[in-house]
Amino acid sequence: MTRRDLLKGLGTVAASSTLPLSLQAATLPKCTTGKKPLNTSNKTRVIVCGGGFGGLTTARYLKESNPALEVLLIEQNRTFVSCPYSNIWLGGVDNVSLEDLSFDYLSASIKYRYNLIHEVITDIDKKAQTVTTNNACYHYDYLVLSPGIDYDYSQLFADISIAKAVYTHYPPAMKPGSEHLRLKKAIENFQGGNFIITVPSGTYRCPPAPYERACMIAYYFKTHGIKGKVVLLDPREKPATKAKGFLESFQTLYRGYIEYIPTAEIKGIDLKTKHVNIETFQTKTLSYVPKSIAFSYANIIPPMKPAKLIDIAGLECNESGWVKLKAPGFESVTDDKIYVLGDAGGHPFPKSGHMANSCGHVVAKELGARTLGKTFDIAAHLPGNICYSMVNGTPKEGIWVSHSVSFSKNTGLKARSEAMVQRNKETGNAIASWYHGITSDML
Ligand SMILES: Cc1cc2nc3c(=O)[nH]c(=O)nc-3n(C[C@H](O)[C@H](O)[C@H](O)COP(=O)(O)OP(=O)(O)OC[C@H]3O[C@@H](n4cnc5c(N)ncnc54)[C@H](O)[C@@H]3O)c2cc1C
Repeated sequence: MTRRDLLKGLGTVAASSTLPLSLQAATLPKCTTGKKPLNTSNKTRVIVCGGGFGGLTTARYLKESNPALEVLLIEQNRTFVSCPYSNIWLGGVDNVSLEDLSFDYLSASIKYRYNLIHEVITDIDKKAQTVTTNNACYHYDYLVLSPGIDYDYSQLFADISIAKAVYTHYPPAMKPGSEHLRLKKAIENFQGGNFIITVPSGTYRCPPAPYERACMIAYYFKTHGIKGKVVLLDPREKPATKAKGFLESFQTLYRGYIEYIPTAEIKGIDLKTKHVNIETFQTKTLSYVPKSIAFSYANIIPPMKPAKLIDIAGLECNESGWVKLKAPGFESVTDDKIYVLGDAGGHPFPKSGHMANSCGHVVAKELGARTLGKTFDIAAHLPGNICYSMVNGTPKEGIWVSHSVSFSKNTGLKARSEAMVQRNKETGNAIASWYHGITSDML
């Protein structure tokens, strides 16, 4: 690629200088009432908000489906760090390093010829069709939001100071980066006792993740001679997904290393004495029984909601709290110039990286066609999902669940699942190939 090609690829924002886009943007007008937002070219501009699994895929494939588009990806972080594969790293399986989870954003933006800016989005004005960041303001013709999730501690702790302390000391590690590093340290420094993991209630990011994490931490304890036990507190009666496979692994691979407590509702936490208070439902007496469990360390995973950006954009959500979309497509019911995908979306799909990637392909094709004045039949190109979980490290053994999606005008979108719950080496070995495949597709 020549220097001229590269500048073309970056679009006219950067064409006048070799300064990074974020530095250039600082000199451009702020988006205040009456001021014109930054409008760099006559091309149709799509702004993709959030460079995770959904956003990266959409940005790449939008340029393929309509190369004439100006695509701008805005992502607050400067390094992409993956949540998928992180439990395997936590468990010390297969020599996975932090480097295997981390990628630079710049190479992808150069390779796939979209613009990239590392800024925090602070406002979206649907009427003016502008996105404001901590640095500047950008006009859009179409907007794609894939901002992921936020934690909803209010459902666990009424006192916000307790929520803050719990986050700081016992972060959920359901968002990548710093939280994962703290969890890794806690596992490596663990001296024994109870290591509590709480499974969130409601719909949450990556349903198998807490159960896979329990297996991987127990695997670490078992292989490092640590006299510790993972206590997995689940508000459900059985694991949210691949239940048979996880329960079998808990009982046979990790007897004495994992205690699974179903119907466990969190009632409070005492950070000084390090106890979690729960209530479990007793089917014999049809009553709730309180219990206090001591812990040496805890991975408290609270319920989840769409990332704040959805609130900022003022998009309507469904009764479960996720963004209401025009099925079978991905346009918000509030504004059909705004597409929402990934974990924030309200379609009845599992919240997974594979699904976000698959939806990114569909959105890129549909929006690419729309901006070319063509139509694209989404119902004939519905997304799909496969989700692997590693349950053992030596030998590597895994289980999986897949989802196929159907649509009819009468029943709407439906996701049907099929699972392989008998752990086996083929699945254990397939996990690395899946991970390398999906990250190459996005990055
Ligand atoms: C431990 C764990 C294991 C997992 N394992 C798997 C697995 O094996 N397979 C699988 O398919 N999925 C897995 N997942 C799920 C997967 O990580 C998510 O489903 C996926 O990341 C969702 O993609 P997304 O695009 O919706 O959100 P994300 O990937 O989280 O991307 C959202 C991006 O938006 C950015 N953003 C948000 N707000 C702003 C703002 N205001 N300004 C600028 N940027 C912003 C964020 O910084 C982030 O980079 C796992 C998750 C966890 C936590």
